[in-house]
Amino acid sequence: MSCCDEGCCGEGVDFTKTPIAELYGSNSFSNAMMRERLPKSIYKEIVAVQNGEKELTLEVAEVVAVAMRDWAIEKGASHYTHWFHPLTGLTAEKHDAFISPTGDGKVLMEFSGKELIKGEPDASSFPSGGLRATFEARGYTAWDVTSPAFLKQDKTGTTLCIPTAFISYYGQALDKKVPLLKSIDALSKQAVRVLRALGHEGSKRVFTTVGPEQEYFLVDKEFYDQRPDLILTGRTVFGALPAKGQEMEDHYFGAIKERVADFMRELNYELWKVGIPAKTQHNEVAPNQFEIAPIYANSSAAVDANQMVMETLRSVARRHGMEALLHEKPFAGVNGSGKHNNWSMATDDGINLLEPGANPESNARFLLFAAAVVEAVDRYALLIRSSTATSANEFRLGANEAPPAIISVFFGSPLTEILDNIAEGKAGGKTESDARIKIGVSSLPALPKDVSDRNRTSPFAFTGNKFEFRMVGSSQSIATPNTYLNVAVAQVLSEYAEKLEKSSKGDASSNKNDAIQNIIKESYKAHKKVIFNGNGYSDEWVHEAERRGLPNVKSAPDALSVLTRSETVSLFEAHQVLTKEELESRYHIYLEKYSKQINIEAGTIIDLARRYIFPAATSYAGALAGDAAALASIGANNASQAKRAKRIADLSTELYDETAKLETVLAEAQGIEDPFAQAKAYNEKVKADMDAVRSKVDALEKLVAKASWPFPGYEELLFKL
Ligand code: ADP
Ligand code: MG
Repeated sequence: MSCCDEGCCGEGVDFTKTPIAELYGSNSFSNAMMRERLPKSIYKEIVAVQNGEKELTLEVAEVVAVAMRDWAIEKGASHYTHWFHPLTGLTAEKHDAFISPTGDGKVLMEFSGKELIKGEPDASSFPSGGLRATFEARGYTAWDVTSPAFLKQDKTGTTLCIPTAFISYYGQALDKKVPLLKSIDALSKQAVRVLRALGHEGSKRVFTTVGPEQEYFLVDKEFYDQRPDLILTGRTVFGALPAKGQEMEDHYFGAIKERVADFMRELNYELWKVGIPAKTQHNEVAPNQFEIAPIYANSSAAVDANQMVMETLRSVARRHGMEALLHEKPFAGVNGSGKHNNWSMATDDGINLLEPGANPESNARFLLFAAAVVEAVDRYALLIRSSTATSANEFRLGANEAPPAIISVFFGSPLTEILDNIAEGKAGGKTESDARIKIGVSSLPALPKDVSDRNRTSPFAFTGNKFEFRMVGSSQSIATPNTYLNVAVAQVLSEYAEKLEKSSKGDASSNKNDAIQNIIKESYKAHKKVIFNGNGYSDEWVHEAERRGLPNVKSAPDALSVLTRSETVSLFEAHQVLTKEELESRYHIYLEKYSKQINIEAGTIIDLARRYIFPAATSYAGALAGDAAALASIGANNASQAKRAKRIADLSTELYDETAKLETVLAEAQGIEDPFAQAKAYNEKVKADMDAVRSKVDALEKLVAKASWPFPGYEELLFKL
């Protein structure tokens, strides 16, 4: 039965009857919608603000507010909310009704420009890392014009959501959006400088484009509800692997089960309504694991859209009697979930700066911008790694699974060869062959027609006309990884711009060509160590990376510690993205979040071990011992029962002891004041003891009768849908 049969679609859209082109974007106050509903001059103003050419004025906001309100009310909205990204990594909303009493017992539906551009949620309960003392709890949300407002609809009603940035009374960033927007500006500024120096006058602004591929698991709600660990922590803290895992490789790109297809159909419709161009979907590698990817957008809108994708995944799954798991590692022994962050830079006049293109002019531009990304990833590897440092993602990175915690770049052999040739002074590369596009000016080498081969094991892969950052965890906000990436690339581009600007001072073009070649050559020589086109999952790579001096930071707390280093602070301050104080506060928030998450998991393990597993196992052992005695009393062979009862009883005792040990270690970690030392204690000591408890429980699961085990196991969670 689909959700519409149950009457829970709220807004009454019958997906089967409404043409998709009509449905698409119907709940998004997109530019198309604004063009339709705003006076021409106001629409133009908004586009100028989106492009960073103008500041938003209250007069313009007033007009937009009225149009937005009328649109939302026509669609059945009663409330609006400033929708923002606090440092929890989730989104937050505080709903306000449009109503304004008229004094005679009636109301008007009102929404002013001021209410559109600025909100004031009570901010005291959001993490601020000490930036905002509780006596000064004021925080402001400010409209982000670069991401469209949208309507959230469910059976409880319709709410107008206005994407906003969240700042403190003193202007410090309290969210993930402010630094992202600043990093986009920073990158734009430097990229435009480089373009100008290359003689390209047409672009006024550069945007970063992002297309995240979202992985997730689905489990039947009935089984989910019986697993307190899934409910409390998002992952299974116990679970013995069944006889079958993912080794048959029969799930990846397999035929989608009807129940899942039905869910995906509704998910797509819900996303299309709010203007999120969900495009591809398929089965992933692990059983019951799936992926959805929308078409890329500017990074601010993409960050918002991805939060909506995650939220919608959850709500639609529930309507279909399932639970969507976004945790990075819900199950041990099969693949975890990531989020491939496809990233590029595009100009306002429509050029993808990482598009190799067909002519020599674009070759030079492409090679320069691509070299800048490679250099940025090498120089700021730790920072980029830190953007994915969460307790859940730690189960993926550097564990026995993809990708490793080592940052490397896959550039593909054709491109690497070209850079090699440039570095060796063989600018023209190999002799021209048919496979290569003709080289024309600047003695830069010809580019092969198909520059990208495939590599699925690299954490940072060039895939044709974009880079794909694959370390990002499935449940993470993509704001932070993109912010760090943008800042790192902005820095390298600023240095390139400097050199190019100097070179063009003298006699024009030959100098410039030399300068371009030199920049690429020097950069590549210094940073080619980060390029690795082989198998990133192999042990050899770990050794090779070590030999090359590439960092391999496995633990999240260690990765996070880069945030307060002086070179990080200078980088962020130089581009005015985050101050030292803001970086420190973030560092503390992330460390605390890390510790809290493991604390919850450890608590859950202790609780489940004591109240579920131990009683089940010991009473089963008791019953077996009883059986053994009964069998003995009739002279039957009772050896297997007795042996098994003893084994289970022994394991239960070991479980009891390990649980007590975990409890002690946990109490020690809880008592540590310093946030870094505390996170390290959780990382090194608590997690080890959690594993020790788990190994006892999983061994017991293999011995205790299915009917006596207190919750569903991996076979139900992973294979039944
Ligand atoms: P694959 O990774 O299998 O090659 P696709 O080519 O479909 O998959 O791309 C995956 C994601 O990359 C999609 O979300 C797509 O929109 C996005 N993408 C494509 N081009 C760009 C770009 N220039 N900038 C950012 N993301 C992009
Ligand atoms: Mg991909």
